[in-house]
Amino acid sequence: MFNEKQVMIPGPTPVVKAIRDEMAREIQAFGDPRFVADYKATIDGLGQLLNCSGKTFVVAASGTLAMEMAISNTTKRGDRVLIVSHGFFGDRFIDICTRKGLVVDVLQSEWGQIVPLTQIEAQLSQHAYAAMTLTHVDTSTGVVAPVAEVGELMRKFADTIFIVDGVCATGAENEDVDGMNIDILFTGSQKAFGVCPGLMMLWASQKALARRESLGETIPEYYCDFAKWLPIMDDPSKYFATPAINLVWALQKSLELIVAEGGLSVRDERHRKNALAMQSALEAIGLRVLAEPGHRAITLSNLCYPEGVDDLQFRTTLAAEGFTVAGGLANYAGKMFRLGHMGNIDINDVVAVLSGIERALHQVSGKDVLGVAVTCYLKEMAAK
Ligand SMILES: *Cc1c(COP(=O)(O)O)cnc(C)c1O
Repeated sequence: MFNEKQVMIPGPTPVVKAIRDEMAREIQAFGDPRFVADYKATIDGLGQLLNCSGKTFVVAASGTLAMEMAISNTTKRGDRVLIVSHGFFGDRFIDICTRKGLVVDVLQSEWGQIVPLTQIEAQLSQHAYAAMTLTHVDTSTGVVAPVAEVGELMRKFADTIFIVDGVCATGAENEDVDGMNIDILFTGSQKAFGVCPGLMMLWASQKALARRESLGETIPEYYCDFAKWLPIMDDPSKYFATPAINLVWALQKSLELIVAEGGLSVRDERHRKNALAMQSALEAIGLRVLAEPGHRAITLSNLCYPEGVDDLQFRTTLAAEGFTVAGGLANYAGKMFRLGHMGNIDINDVVAVLSGIERALHQVSGKDVLGVAVTCYLKEMAAK
């Protein structure tokens, strides 16, 4: 094998050369007016992209710190929060909130399904919740939540901050912070933005910012306090903590590519068409998509093996064919693999990985699948 291996996990996603090149640039001082202008343009551009009339934060961290930032700035010890969970990442909020001394109520779905809107509404009517969390795409299950519909519902619960984990969605799914009545949305650079890991982006509505103010001058957390970052986001020539300079440039480039592609709605359509074609193709070779039809993510697919296929053997064989995919989490460890298909990938990348999956499945199961998924995928992609 002479070519590079392809990383097709749900983050980090492939990083295209134009973005990689930004990582290799000569460093500048964080106060250099050229960098300050780039940082400001990136923050403002991201605010426009997601239609957020509040504030946008770009901070050196992974997505998990953004989860903590969302909770820290909108709740105080003793507050009650509702966690709507469609899997492992939804559940992660339980630990974050419990450690903070919040009263936690959880609505969990079966893996592959969603919590129905009626159940969310009934629960919200039971208590006064300071905040509610929802994971747009839970990466452990490949399930997409109906964020726009839930946002509409939240208009009835004006005292509850609506927090959306967009880590596996933002930059691929069409999201609109103001339009969807979202109070906090966040993601990490390494998912659908196709940048190396290391940055978190968070969008906060006016309502979320007002909630932070109501908590007083300080909160127990230091690095993730909105109040520490707000002056920097307004004027990045100021110092609070050293920005990840090359990552900011890489993110700026990624944003440029997204805008050049036509923005989030075009990007959503591209991901949607590709995901539907891929999911039919993968089903055609005997893999089962975990998420129920109607609730399937467009950013990744979680694929259950047919009877008799060993997870480790399959993924080792696929790696030898040039592709890294992720294993299943929790109860699905050993029973499925997770295939990322978000960000800056194209039809050539997908044909290659589908062909690799066919070869690996053929080798480990002897099944006659060569060409089957690729043919199915190409036909669907060519259809109107
Ligand atoms: C990846 C992911 C996270 C965690 O992000 P890190 O960058 O790994 O900290 C949180 N939520 C979802 C939905 C994710 O996919």
